[in-house]
Amino acid sequence: MAIEHLHVVTYSRNVFIPVTNMCRNHCAYCGFRHSPDDPQSFIIQPAHVEEILQKGAQSGCTEALFTFGERPEEDAAYVRRLSAIGYDNTLDYLLDLCRMAINAGLLPHCNPGVLSYEELASLKPLNASMGLMLETTAHVQAHDNSPGKVPGKRIESIANAGKLKIPFTTGLLVGIGETRSDRLESLRTIAELHRQYGHIQEVIIQNFTPKPGTPMAGYEPPSFEEMLWTVELAKEVLPEDIAVQVPPNLISPRVLIEHGASDLGGISTQTIDHINPEHKWPTVEELEQKVGSSIVLRERLAIYPQYIHREWFSEDIRPLVKKLADDKGYKRTT
Ligand code: SF4
Repeated sequence: MAIEHLHVVTYSRNVFIPVTNMCRNHCAYCGFRHSPDDPQSFIIQPAHVEEILQKGAQSGCTEALFTFGERPEEDAAYVRRLSAIGYDNTLDYLLDLCRMAINAGLLPHCNPGVLSYEELASLKPLNASMGLMLETTAHVQAHDNSPGKVPGKRIESIANAGKLKIPFTTGLLVGIGETRSDRLESLRTIAELHRQYGHIQEVIIQNFTPKPGTPMAGYEPPSFEEMLWTVELAKEVLPEDIAVQVPPNLISPRVLIEHGASDLGGISTQTIDHINPEHKWPTVEELEQKVGSSIVLRERLAIYPQYIHREWFSEDIRPLVKKLADDKGYKRTT
């Protein structure tokens, strides 16, 4: 049977690179963030990034996912540490890391938190796609000490990415104190942004998982039924061309796929999920078992096929996109 007639679910293969875990926000569920005076805080060194990129390229990964704490430069101690590796601002460092990824044969996808139009514009040529979780349009207590989680700021940043024609990933974090009607509102907001700019390629429906030592360590994570309800709602509310993504290291995907999920996000065999380190990535073989034999897994790139066809990428990454994509816009297999 032609692959187009089967139930196809996509995923990508990436390396997950946490650039820094210092962050101006203090989200009550976050186990990733550390203050500059904490020995566990870090800024990743260029040599370490190069090592991860080379391992990723050798093992067939196509994407370098750069994640961050948001606007860490608001703390002078972070700025001093950044200058010790030769940079006076994070954006310049990130641009160089993107160039390293492209040289290694990996398409960058940056997730640096809320950015201005100008910052997004400078990153666009070196990124295949970018991302910012909306999480929720509601004002939840978990974000009381997180200036970057003011919903209006995130919506503005996602809109700016749309004005710049950046293929974009966003999503909901489910179970952080929002209600079902908040989730509906969040999804409607994303749908409206997409109707206006056409740039949302995927929406992650991610379940909150409690982290030891955080203010929300004792909170119940959302039930599977709650996640199923949200995936169904996302399928109903979002325009047809947006993929609904569920993270297969945080939740069993099979039933969610039957109810509308169509993407499993980035799978990394070389790096851990630094945000949820206790949840190991499945291998592609394990994923095949998880989704069942009626589903065909298809590898995609950091930029979805429709944006490859529309050429929403720069001349800087054109050769790499052409090398990695097949004629349908998925990962080339031959
Ligand atoms: S913005 Fe991200 S890294 Fe910063 S505290 Fe919130 S969840 Fe953690």
